[in-house]
Amino acid sequence: MISIVKNKIHFYGLRFATLNSQLSTINYQLSTKKMPSITIWNEFVHERSNSDYGSMCRQHYPNGIHRHLAEKLAPALPEARIRTASLDEPANGLPDDVLNSTDVLVWWGHAAHDKVPDDLVDRIHTRILAGMGLVALHSAHMSKIFRRVCGTSCMLRWRDGGRERVWVVDPMHPIVKGVPETFAIDETEMYGEPFGLPPDAHPVFMSWYEGGNVFRSGVTLNRGAGKVFYFSPGHETFPIYHDANVLKVIANGLRWVSPETPVGANPLPYAVDEQTPYEK
Ligand code: ZN
Repeated sequence: MISIVKNKIHFYGLRFATLNSQLSTINYQLSTKKMPSITIWNEFVHERSNSDYGSMCRQHYPNGIHRHLAEKLAPALPEARIRTASLDEPANGLPDDVLNSTDVLVWWGHAAHDKVPDDLVDRIHTRILAGMGLVALHSAHMSKIFRRVCGTSCMLRWRDGGRERVWVVDPMHPIVKGVPETFAIDETEMYGEPFGLPPDAHPVFMSWYEGGNVFRSGVTLNRGAGKVFYFSPGHETFPIYHDANVLKVIANGLRWVSPETPVGANPLPYAVDEQTPYEK
């Protein structure tokens, strides 16, 4: 709730900061809340493919899905620092200095899941447990990092084309703020149940597809100190990331997974050789 916290800062600052030193301290602490650093990672394979398929993707995302999302999401997240990264860059786009300064990681992958090195997945997983947020989009359901945090198959049914109707199924969740209770996507890729998620995956959105399938199209998870949001709309050959409702959901998801405290500030469980008992 970055923008809301910012509003509260102004509220406290204007109304109470001069009342006493205690409230001035609160004002100071809130105003120094770290600006979230968002890194949008994309395998960036389909959009550069020298094929008819690649042309279809470039029609909607000429500079890649990652750069498109960065541009479209920036106005909704004015306090965030947004960077992009892709698989072909040095260290697969996520060298230590980038990953260790990322508060929220967005992941889009499909054709190159296996090209992501396991040690990178280990580093991302460790940072999620320490508090970094993860937003996994569309076919990232089969990415190594999403399957790692789920610990399940994450498999599903799919079919090309057709219409999707997205429904909010948790109207109290912050991710649905300002989102209509239902909206349609005219052309999509069907993702259908059963979706191999862990039992603690919390459904926020449910989709119905032309043809009769249903799918938990938006789910949240908590892993260690980190929050995870998966959202399925986003097939690469359709202009789904141009849809205002879809962008609203993703922006809300980015806010929701943003860590409340700096990544690593929360103590993680660790092994203790505790020879001295607390009580005798
Ligand atoms: Zn797809």
